[in-house]
Amino acid sequence: MADATQTGTSHGERKLRCPRDGRLMEKEQIGGVLIDRCAGCGTLWLDAGEMERLLTIKGAAARADAGRFGDGTGITMLGATHCPRDGAELIDRPDPGQPHVLESICPRCRGVLLDCGELKDLSERTLRERVAALLRRS
Ligand SMILES: [Zn+2]
Ligand SMILES: [Zn+2]
Repeated sequence: MADATQTGTSHGERKLRCPRDGRLMEKEQIGGVLIDRCAGCGTLWLDAGEMERLLTIKGAAARADAGRFGDGTGITMLGATHCPRDGAELIDRPDPGQPHVLESICPRCRGVLLDCGELKDLSERTLRERVAALLRRS
């Protein structure tokens, strides 16, 4: 579990490797949040707090999440998945609000790995639930 990919230079700017298929992840600035997204399978890596921020910015989740990427079948599950930042083994946890979405959380840096489409799913349901709550109140 050594940090073999850590080169010691500017931590935040270093390209991460997708824990699912080993490809380099592309960085993209969305609403002030710098996300990492795999160009191969669309897996998203969000550092601690970034997911919450993206979900509060209108339209950010749809831009960050490519939705169905390619044919959507290219994801190879490798069993244990490791944090692209520090190599800790990620823990799968159902989202507290939406248990059908399985998030992979790093116990060390609190980053979150989301499969392609999951962020969009979270944001759409979040919106729908908010609207439903509003309607119930009136
Ligand atoms: Zn990938
Ligand atoms: Zn980590």
